[in-house]
Amino acid sequence: LVLDYRKKPGSFAYQMKTFRCKATNIPEPIFARVVAYETTTQPGISSVILNDASNRTYEITVSGPDCVQPLEDKQPYLQFYNSELPFDVGDIVLIEPSGSGSVVFQNSSRMNSVLLTERCNSHCIMCPQPPKSTDASDTLDIAVKIISMLDEETNVIGITGGEPTLEWNGLERVLRVCSERIPGTSIQLLTNARILRDFDKASELASWSSGNLFACIPLYSDVATIHDGLVGAKGAFWDTLDGIYNLERLNIPIELRIVVTSYNYTRLPEWAEFVYRNMPFLKHIAIMGLEPVGLAAKNINKLYQQPNTYTILLEKALKILRRRDMPASIFNHPLCHLPQSLRSYCKKSISEWKIYYPKVCDLCNIRQSCGGLFESSRSYKNLIKVSPVS
Ligand code: SF4
Repeated sequence: LVLDYRKKPGSFAYQMKTFRCKATNIPEPIFARVVAYETTTQPGISSVILNDASNRTYEITVSGPDCVQPLEDKQPYLQFYNSELPFDVGDIVLIEPSGSGSVVFQNSSRMNSVLLTERCNSHCIMCPQPPKSTDASDTLDIAVKIISMLDEETNVIGITGGEPTLEWNGLERVLRVCSERIPGTSIQLLTNARILRDFDKASELASWSSGNLFACIPLYSDVATIHDGLVGAKGAFWDTLDGIYNLERLNIPIELRIVVTSYNYTRLPEWAEFVYRNMPFLKHIAIMGLEPVGLAAKNINKLYQQPNTYTILLEKALKILRRRDMPASIFNHPLCHLPQSLRSYCKKSISEWKIYYPKVCDLCNIRQSCGGLFESSRSYKNLIKVSPVS
């Protein structure tokens, strides 16, 4: 099965923001960077200049809901159902003849990722994007196209999957394009590092980047059987640890991640102690909440642990790390789920286009500093509750 973004907009990188519009005179999908837009003399009408990866320029007329007619018969034309443009200068968009559109790279965000493959060598019980054995050629081509249109000044980009190291040649291609196009950009590789237990592979990976690779690696427990059970792969715990040590030997900085679930929360302090004793070199540690989509949604009743049942353990874990000077943060937790003492650790970690604030958040005094919930939490209102802070 070839991943067909034309039929299923949004399917190749579920993280992105999507929009719908009426497209006229757009014969094939346009993957392009927004170079400029300006309002024309006619009210409610703007024109957008797009540049694609081959440096072809498109000028597209855009209108809001009140202006329905294309200015000229042959001119590419988009009509949005509300008058606000869903993209900005510097963003990379995909616009399809059907009127489906996606912002595949939002220039103002630090949370952009390209998807390399949907295949994975683990099968995590809480995976938000369940693995599929799809051919990766389309996703790879798209990733390369997106990267080759990025600003040289881009701060950060994520490379994700599936497991990106399974697409070994594709990963090389993508990292080499990054080195050429965005040599100063931080490249965050989200990997389980199992393949990198082989030192030769890890060295090869290090040689493809221009020294700005940052590995984000999950380790869900200090107990091998708990980690292996959560990732659905026997031996994964030791593979990942070997991968981490190899990357450290090669001077690749590492962020270690844990997703808190009912299977691992009781050992958060032991996990923190294990992390310090065995990996004092980590650059950052992220303690994360579940994103209730994919397998995490399917298994939500088994997995979800009410935060108030683990705040004391979380406090202990963070104290252990802080005393050892190991930088740690809490991701994907709304502030009202945690006591005051832990809120300074919280980061606004949910991508802008996935954030959801329930209506009651309007009454909350700390909404400005709160990262909210995942959009997908809407379906679990009885399980994942929020309470405004006064
Ligand atoms: S009530 Fe809403 S805005 Fe306030 S802390 Fe909770 S989730 Fe955040």
